[in-house]
Parts: sequence; structure tokens; C-alpha cells
Amino acid sequence: MIRLKIETSGLIVTILAIGLLTFSTPVLAKSPNYTTKDLNEQLVMATVWMQTSAEYRALCYQAFNVAKMNLDNFLANYKGSKPVAIIADADETLIDNSAYEAWLIGKDFGYSSKTWTPWMQAAEALAIPGAVEFLQYVKSKGVETFYVTNRKMVGYDGTKKNLAALGFPDVDKKHLLLRTKSSDKQARRDIVLKDYAVALYLGDNLNDFESAFAKKPIDGRFAETDRAKDLWGTKYIVFPNPTYGEWEAAVIEGNWGASAAEKNKMRKDSLRVWDR
Ligand SMILES: [Mg+2]
Repeated sequence: MIRLKIETSGLIVTILAIGLLTFSTPVLAKSPNYTTKDLNEQLVMATVWMQTSAEYRALCYQAFNVAKMNLDNFLANYKGSKPVAIIADADETLIDNSAYEAWLIGKDFGYSSKTWTPWMQAAEALAIPGAVEFLQYVKSKGVETFYVTNRKMVGYDGTKKNLAALGFPDVDKKHLLLRTKSSDKQARRDIVLKDYAVALYLGDNLNDFESAFAKKPIDGRFAETDRAKDLWGTKYIVFPNPTYGEWEAAVIEGNWGASAAEKNKMRKDSLRVWDR
């Protein structure tokens, strides 16, 4: 808001009114009182959509149907000697953590390992619609599933308990590959690729597919996605996640230390707006 010190009260009212109309978004963004609690309000629509929209559910079924078709196609044409596997991310690909996101709404703090660790240990994530059925189908075809997730080892027991209780197959030390050092998943993908022919990759975050997508600005992510155009829905099966992800990092240029007000501003500055 432009706040000019003019002693005529009528003028001040007029200028403030124009300022409010013209610069209402920057006013909010620059407010020193804009808190993490305010920023967490932006999770409401994304989380409501994941939890209540049948469209989200339909998209998940669609992703697993596409995965099944491509697995069948892969197996029908495969003539190699290595056993076949798929590589799947866990969070927002196979299991639904939206209750954790919903819990953040109304709180004055964001995601942190301090609260995420107890969530993992609670083992209360739900299965993504269609996930258990698909992975059981994979198993029935003699194909192994490797879970490559960036959950840290502190969450190993809770994750194993959660996945096993939901009915996922291959939940053991060999197949459950949590993050030990790097968040880059390529080293873990390479371990699988050494001994297996990987038919499919499943993920909600582009880093679940290739490291080429990691830590890139918005344009760079678009360019890599265009480059891999033929792989989407064939080898790479993508799941919708509007609540968090590397896309969010790109919007704030990796500046996780930015204040809530700064993040709010960067998010809003990234919008393409109707220039009426
Ligand atoms: Mg994920």
C-alpha cells in the first residue's frame, strides 16, 4: 500500500482507498504480521481437494489403470534375463499423508522433521485409492516392488508397519529403501537397476523419476518435462499432489529459510494474472 503523509484527511482516505484497490496483494504479502499460520491457510483448498473430491480419487485410479496397462505391455514384450521390478515412491504415491497437512492448518509452524517423525511413527497414513490392489497385481505377475522414498531412517519402523498393515507386498529390508544420505534417489534407483529390469516408475514428484528434474527453476522443470514427454503415462506414472513438492521449492527458488510473508509474496508473484 502506498501511504503518503498528506495532512488533508480527505486526500488520505482517497489515496488509501486507491492503494487498497490497486495494491491489495502486495499489501498482504509485505505485512510484517503475516505469519506461518496465515501461510498454512493456503493448504486448505489443496487438502480439501485431496480428501473430499471424487476427482482426486478418479485420477488415482486412472494412474494405476495406466500403470497396469503398461506393466502388462512390458511383460508381454520382455525378453531379457533380469527379473522385472517397479520402483515406487511412497508419500502421495502409495500412501496419503493429507491428515498431517490438515493438522498443520491453524498452527503457526510448517512442516518439520520434529512433527513429521511422530507422524511416520504413528503409521496412520491411508492407502492411495487403487494402490494396494495394483501392487498386489504386480506381485501376482512375479514382479517385485522397490519402495524408494525420502523418508529418513528414523521413520523406518513406522513406515514398514504402515505399509504392511495396509496390505502392500514386498515390505522388507531389501525392498524398502529409505533416505540414508542424499535426497537424490538415483543411487537407490541404480541399486535396483543393477539387478532388475525396471518396468515402471511411480511418483508424485518429478525427482521420483530422474535426477534431471531436481533443484531446477520453474522453466527448467518445464523444459525437462517436455524433453521426457513420451515417458509420461508409459514408463513414468505421475500422481497428483497439490499440497507440497519440488514444484513448491521452484516457486520460492529453493529459499526454504524465507519468511512466511516472503513465501506468500513469491507464490503470488509467480501467478500469471489476467491483465484486464
Ligand atoms: Mg512422494
